[in-house]
Amino acid sequence: MNIGQWVYKRAHTHPERPFLQEDNRRYTNREFNERVNRMAHALLKLGVGRGERVAVLMGNCSEFLEIFFACAKTGALMVPLNVRLAVPELLYILKDCSPRTLFYAEEFSEKVGEIRAALSSGDMPVCFRLGGSDLSPDPPLAGVLAESSGAEPLPAEAVTLDDPLFIMYTSGTTGQPKGAVLTHGNVLFGAINTVLGYGINKTYKSLVTAPLFHIGALGAAATPVIYAGGSLLLKTFFSATEALRVICGEKVNYVFAVPVMFQMMTKSELWPEADFSHVHFFIAGGAPMPVDLIRQYQSEKGVFFAQGYGMTEALRLTSLDLEDSIRKAGSVGKEVFHTEIRIIDNSGKEVAPGEPGEILVKGPNVFAGYWNVPEATAEVLKDGWFFTGDMGRRDEEGFLYVIGRKVEMIISSGENIYPAEVERAIKDIPGVKEAAVVGMPDPRRGEVVAAFVLLSRGSRLTEEDLLAGLEGKIAPYKMPKKILFVKDFPRNATGKIMKHELKRQL
Ligand code: ATP
Ligand code: MG
Repeated sequence: MNIGQWVYKRAHTHPERPFLQEDNRRYTNREFNERVNRMAHALLKLGVGRGERVAVLMGNCSEFLEIFFACAKTGALMVPLNVRLAVPELLYILKDCSPRTLFYAEEFSEKVGEIRAALSSGDMPVCFRLGGSDLSPDPPLAGVLAESSGAEPLPAEAVTLDDPLFIMYTSGTTGQPKGAVLTHGNVLFGAINTVLGYGINKTYKSLVTAPLFHIGALGAAATPVIYAGGSLLLKTFFSATEALRVICGEKVNYVFAVPVMFQMMTKSELWPEADFSHVHFFIAGGAPMPVDLIRQYQSEKGVFFAQGYGMTEALRLTSLDLEDSIRKAGSVGKEVFHTEIRIIDNSGKEVAPGEPGEILVKGPNVFAGYWNVPEATAEVLKDGWFFTGDMGRRDEEGFLYVIGRKVEMIISSGENIYPAEVERAIKDIPGVKEAAVVGMPDPRRGEVVAAFVLLSRGSRLTEEDLLAGLEGKIAPYKMPKKILFVKDFPRNATGKIMKHELKRQL
């Protein structure tokens, strides 16, 4: 049974239960399945064959998920594009995966215009716009849909769990984004792992406010809840106050977001009165969740946090039981049911508890490979094990802690330095807003620590102040040998700091 069958099953078993709501649109399971079928028929009519790519440039909306499931039913591959990418970045991806069609929300008409100007007509996908504007030269998607039927489509051959379902490009934090090919089976087991790990069921109402074009929202906020029979509340862009309003007003009981979103909620004017008594739990992923923030939600609002550790290439690798969320704060938990994890040293041997090493994973949730780059795939997928490039360690009880990325590790006179540890120590100094630490070449020690520091508004800290603040907090060999004050950091479209760019500034 492929992923497209999920929406059919839901429509068949509980036709009138809610599937999703979005502003003033609400669809039951039956209605949503019909919408997916209409989209699937539209794809077939447009000649989008099995295995062909369908690029999508839109925020969170019903159509995004309709295209996802329509691709699932017909065997096409969806390519969700990050709407924050600049035009040259979008061009890189479009050239890489050569989609036949591009569906875009009208607010991105200008970007699409620039893409059209840059691509030769042979390379330009056939475009359809979502929305009412007449300014765009492309036909409205609504027109194609109006002529399509909502009846079950009948693809020529059955689409199976081993078929690819979408290509999602990695964030490009460590280099060029890579197109990770995810299969129907990957999505199924990602969902099963989450449902089993956290007991998600049909009473769940999930706020989908993190963008669906990232694996976090698609893999944690949407697909497990759809699989378990729950419903979704879609919001396109994140506003902390709006998020609090809908969580409380619409009795949302499950929220996936990145840590910075949860941080922003605590600063909203609605925070003091926000009542979370109906919330099952929140789930934070994509980056380490500050331990203080976990404690604040627990003590002020009685809400527990689940941790989401995963990546574009491997949906949901671990879960931390809610009852351990305070006792093991900072850990991402233990591997989920259908996933194995090993931590190895440079010689490939498994490390002892407490020792750091690279995190390897194996399981049906691990991607099929990178689109178009078999060499890159061969480098990270060996004997079924995926080399994540992340460093981690386990404690005596087997709980996993993510330490940072292997390529960002600094080796100074033979000692390993993890940037996150130094960054945390710098950020703990009052007056520091953010810090990023990278390795700087040094003739004697190989590498030494360089720190880029963003001060809080009004803060007048000097280099000497910072070094004095770090004194006794970190070992001398971890002390920054160069400190640069910055006004902002080079970030990718996900908001992550691109350290290779910083290194170039040294
Ligand atoms: P690229 O692979 O192109 O360099 P990226 O790795 O940032 O970009 P993503 O797949 O979006 O692209 O991000 C996954 C990475 O995010 C993980 O490999 C890990 O480094 C980090 N990450 C995800 N969840 C957590 C977490 N809970 N704690 C710490 N780090 C996390
Ligand atoms: Mg990565």
